[in-house]
Amino acid sequence: MNKVPDHAVNRLRIWRKSISTRPFLARGGAVPRCEACQLRHAWCACEWRPELKAEAGFCLLMYDSEPMKPSNTGRLIADVLPDTTWAFLWQRTKPHPELLALLADPAWQPYVVFPACEKEPTRLTTEVTLAPGKKPLFILLDGTWPEARKMFNMSPYLDGFPVLAVKPEALSTYGMRVANCDEHLCTAEVAACVLEVAGELEAGQALQLWFNLFSSRYMAGRVSRAPGEDETPLLQALEAIKGEGGELAEVGLRGSDAA
Ligand SMILES: [Zn+2]
Repeated sequence: MNKVPDHAVNRLRIWRKSISTRPFLARGGAVPRCEACQLRHAWCACEWRPELKAEAGFCLLMYDSEPMKPSNTGRLIADVLPDTTWAFLWQRTKPHPELLALLADPAWQPYVVFPACEKEPTRLTTEVTLAPGKKPLFILLDGTWPEARKMFNMSPYLDGFPVLAVKPEALSTYGMRVANCDEHLCTAEVAACVLEVAGELEAGQALQLWFNLFSSRYMAGRVSRAPGEDETPLLQALEAIKGEGGELAEVGLRGSDAA
């Protein structure tokens, strides 16, 4: 049994489950899964989960049951950047006091990540320009596309912040996107793009790789296909990140796989 990473999205999921009056019946919800990565046990990817530190912060506003969906990809952001990811259930009129405190914290410079702002086009930007001493805080609206739009339009506490529109086609340099999210990018992919815009290339790449592995195994789980050889380059790239970041001591112990 893999240890469930202690981060904002997992804490929110556990809490959200605890207040549910009915069992949660998401698509794929009845399948037994690894609690930590939410993949079927045979496809568990926990050993490849990269964990990094970044200057950038993420604030996830999650729509209702989103934290409980096994397919949710906002969780993957917290998997990779547990120290600087926050997650709240979206509330229109009563936002969580900790959310308001985070948005008001002078250490952060918040951006709402959203593709358009018809009401106030002057808020739109495609660049992250930080005031001295500030770190970027990216607010992500995690839900289906209509839910995200609702959150964007009905959250007065977000109205004062610039709106960062990412253009994935101009940004994606990884060349191994797994297309499974209609015409819109998944939350984790948006976050990977945003990290790239913010100059955090290593964290962006780690997140994109982790997303690619998760989504390929999630799909494989749905059709009961075994993890295939096609994911070998993914696993190697994730291994390399693990080797570089903070776990150098382990490299020696792992012995030489001479690859
Ligand atoms: Zn797992």
